[in-house]
Amino acid sequence: MIYLDNNATTRVAPEVFAAMQPFLTDYYGNPASAHALGRRMKTAVEQAREQVAALLGAADPTEIVFTSCGSESDNWAIGGFLEQNPTRRHIITTRVEHEAVRNLCEHLAEVGCEVTWLEVDGQGELDLDDLRRALRRDTAIVSVMLANNETGVLFPIEEIGKIVRENSDAVFHVDGVQAVGKIPINLKELEVDLFALSGHKLHAPQGVGALYVRNGVTLPPFIIGGAQEHGRRAGTSAVPNIVGLGAACELAANPESHELIGRLRGRLEDEILRTIPNALLNGISDRAKRLPNTANISFQYVEGENIMMLLDEAGICVSTGSACHSGTHQASPTLRAMNVPYTAAQGSIRFSLGRYNTTEEIEQTLGVLPGIVSRLVEMSPYEKELKVLQNAG
Ligand code: PLP
Repeated sequence: MIYLDNNATTRVAPEVFAAMQPFLTDYYGNPASAHALGRRMKTAVEQAREQVAALLGAADPTEIVFTSCGSESDNWAIGGFLEQNPTRRHIITTRVEHEAVRNLCEHLAEVGCEVTWLEVDGQGELDLDDLRRALRRDTAIVSVMLANNETGVLFPIEEIGKIVRENSDAVFHVDGVQAVGKIPINLKELEVDLFALSGHKLHAPQGVGALYVRNGVTLPPFIIGGAQEHGRRAGTSAVPNIVGLGAACELAANPESHELIGRLRGRLEDEILRTIPNALLNGISDRAKRLPNTANISFQYVEGENIMMLLDEAGICVSTGSACHSGTHQASPTLRAMNVPYTAAQGSIRFSLGRYNTTEEIEQTLGVLPGIVSRLVEMSPYEKELKVLQNAG
């Protein structure tokens, strides 16, 4: 199997599994227990906190709070801050956020908040003047993702953080779920107050995430109960998963595998765009402004769902749009926000690479994809339009 769906989830790294294993067998204590086994667990949790803090460039490990997933981190950041500040009801976010932020903000709009949705252009980029204009004295929170899960487009959070700071009292929350482990991050140097991440996107297991809460920013507890996570999220810690997240963060700090992933993604993207006449890149073409692992390509006038199924039959896993949209026939909100025409948005495939992909796998994919697309092109009702593209190519 060739797995090119790493933005959906990733394989647990062997190094991560090895770090977790003793905590599934020999070390089974509760980190809140005072005895030796409990203390051993607590030490492991605190070591993982340091590993996460180090990857994010946090000023202090206490700024890291373990959660169960990225969605929880996003929900807690936004929902918690609003709960804490009941007089401020204005939120600014973008049209292309993941559901964890977008659907939450839609819900908040229904229950009395005012949401300003920042638009993106055809390349998936924001106009920062829109943000400047949108900021108000009563703006509670600005929530902007660092990397888009579908296109890999990076938003300039350094600049956004400065604008938020200079023009408002709002807190700045960043959904960093797709970026962590793929690009360097140094929160110490950014005006970011809250930052969400998820373990299963960086070769840790599913079921663990974290929220960075800058020192000085307070949130009400996400779960009320015991004193775990300094009273910020009650419930016995999922020690094996937390240890796994720590190990994954340490693994991700090594830049070598990222360079290889970037090269493989470049080769895949270049070849598809060069050899398949109806292929069109979604998102900015400047690769410095995109994640190194993601290529979102539309095959115009054919159904992405059909490409995905035929690739699946060939043993190659990809997504149409974001994983969360697969199975529905609507063009993804992100591509719609970018004004990608319907006939292209429907044919969009997301290739997302990871640390275990090889050159052979990319060549194999390039070997089967053109045949699959041309089979579907032959069956497409858009004969005339496809002719024009073929002649132009
Ligand atoms: N934010 C982004 C940008 C994502 O891509 C995802 C998952 O795909 C999430 C949040 C949600 O993370 P989780 O699946 O850990 O809840």
